Amino acid sequence: MAKIVILGAGISGHTAAQYLRKWLNKKHEVVVVTPNAYYQWIPSNIWVGVGRMTSEQIKFKLGPKYKKWGIDYKQAKAVSIHPEGNKEFEKGFVTIEYTGQDKVGESEKVDYDFLINATGPKLNFAGTDGLGPGKNTVSVCTYTHADEAWEKLQESFKEMEKGKVQRFLIGVGHPMATCQGAAFEYILNVAYEIKKRKLEEFADITWISNEWELGDFGMAGAYIRRGGYITSTKVFTESFFVERGIKWIKRAGVKKVEPGKVIYENLDGEINEKEFDFAMLIPGFSGPGMKAFDKNDEDIT
Ligand SMILES: Cc1cc2nc3c(=O)[nH]c(=O)nc-3n(C[C@H](O)[C@H](O)[C@H](O)COP(=O)(O)OP(=O)(O)OC[C@H]3O[C@@H](n4cnc5c(N)ncnc54)[C@H](O)[C@@H]3O)c2cc1C
Repeated sequence: MAKIVILGAGISGHTAAQYLRKWLNKKHEVVVVTPNAYYQWIPSNIWVGVGRMTSEQIKFKLGPKYKKWGIDYKQAKAVSIHPEGNKEFEKGFVTIEYTGQDKVGESEKVDYDFLINATGPKLNFAGTDGLGPGKNTVSVCTYTHADEAWEKLQESFKEMEKGKVQRFLIGVGHPMATCQGAAFEYILNVAYEIKKRKLEEFADITWISNEWELGDFGMAGAYIRRGGYITSTKVFTESFFVERGIKWIKRAGVKKVEPGKVIYENLDGEINEKEFDFAMLIPGFSGPGMKAFDKNDEDIT
């Protein structure tokens, strides 16, 4: 009998758990450790952030599903990994700290034969001064963030309905932020919602990105074959923006966000500012911050 422990229930961890449970004989144990009570389909947050979907439509409770499937679910976060075990445990184990299931704050050691670390990116809002929910910008990285983005967006729509121009700034909020696609989809969704409401004359929409060219999308661009034509993603994206009246700032690393203003540095080292009424900026990503120890409990992180 083997015990497989999976850390994280995002698309990676949840899919791994589901398939392992389906493929493995019942004598093997599948355990999921994740701090969240809900699974969320993250890509649909770009719809939640413009009110086209509700957060209820893109999430479901993990507990009942895992119970039905025979997966041991621990609503907890992993704090440390001990791949060689220690004096107390012969096998590898993880130390976890509960975030739910009426055990908030309680610690437990969970041993394993196989460990899948699917903890995804940490949303590193702290990497940019003043960035993120509760500070000066919104985000669509989680459903709670996307709910807040939609609330703020509606406030801007109300101002525009009164005839006041609103400045929208959408893109990435750190020189090393990589998740361009989510911001690109979101800016097009926002532009669409503005057009649908016939409020375009009151909208000043700007894209801000650390990438060299528009359409690089983390892979130095691509070519699209469509209707017999081959177009670079640079031309494709620029045309998309021009058609929608979206301006752009590229090669810009956002350093700091103040109320209504971002401060960014370009590749020539110039510091510039851009003012906004509504800003959705994706943060940089980092790791989840777990520690690792060897069998003598020495820190090997
Ligand atoms: C708005 C948006 C749109 C996107 N659209 C697309 C798209 O169209 N196509 C595409 O391919 N990608 C898209 N992405 C990227 C995609 O969502 C991510 O690459 C994907 O969600 C990563 O999956 P994951 O399971 O590795 O991590 P996550 O989905 O982040 O899941 C990580 C899990 O680990 C848990 N966890 C964190 N810390 C711990 C810990 N210490 N212990 C235990 N568990 C922990 C978390 O709670 C979570 O359950 C989009 C991203 C965003 C933000």
